[in-house]
Amino acid sequence: PTPATSVKLVLLGEAAVGKSSLVLRFVSNDFQENKEPTIGAAFLTQKCTIGERTIKYEIWDTAGQERFASLAPMYYRNAQAAIVVYDITKPASFIKARHWVKELHEQAAKDITIALVGNKYDLVQDDDEGQGEREGVRKVSVEEGQNLAAEEGLLFYETSAKTSYNVNDVFIGIGNKIPEA
Ligand code: GDP
Ligand code: MG
Repeated sequence: PTPATSVKLVLLGEAAVGKSSLVLRFVSNDFQENKEPTIGAAFLTQKCTIGERTIKYEIWDTAGQERFASLAPMYYRNAQAAIVVYDITKPASFIKARHWVKELHEQAAKDITIALVGNKYDLVQDDDEGQGEREGVRKVSVEEGQNLAAEEGLLFYETSAKTSYNVNDVFIGIGNKIPEA
């Protein structure tokens, strides 16, 4: 078997958008309703098989609180990939996501792979059949996310850490953009 390609990945985004929950879903296939806030940053690893390749993600899950923002460069400086997360029911978190994308493009590695992720899709989903959307709950449209991603050259997904909707796809999508070591 071919050796695993290690990929340093950082998660950025406003507090409580679900960064740690996305990581918990990806690493442990688990979800906690009342997840305790991250202090500083947490480090986790997870392997991901994509076709013939194995990617070992080395994940830095940062704290979203403003008082930790100055620490973020330590985590994204050497990162090959970043996931910028917002909550599709919280417009302020989308504005914050724009700022993170801008900062990454100014300060991070030129060839960094960035995924923009609108999380908490389950909150807008209709209960009946998962068809259609509940009225008024979504505050950031799919188009707004798609447009930002297209303008900035980002991968784009809407996800739910709660139902696991699209969570693995984010990491597979990123892996597909990482060149062979
Ligand atoms: P972080 O501060 O960005 O790391 O956010 P957390 O992962 O700590 O999540 C903040 C809160 O949102 C917690 O109460 C989670 O249970 C909840 N949460 C996270 N992801 C989702 C999701 O996809 N759907 C719903 N409904 N709640 C979520
Ligand atoms: Mg967290």
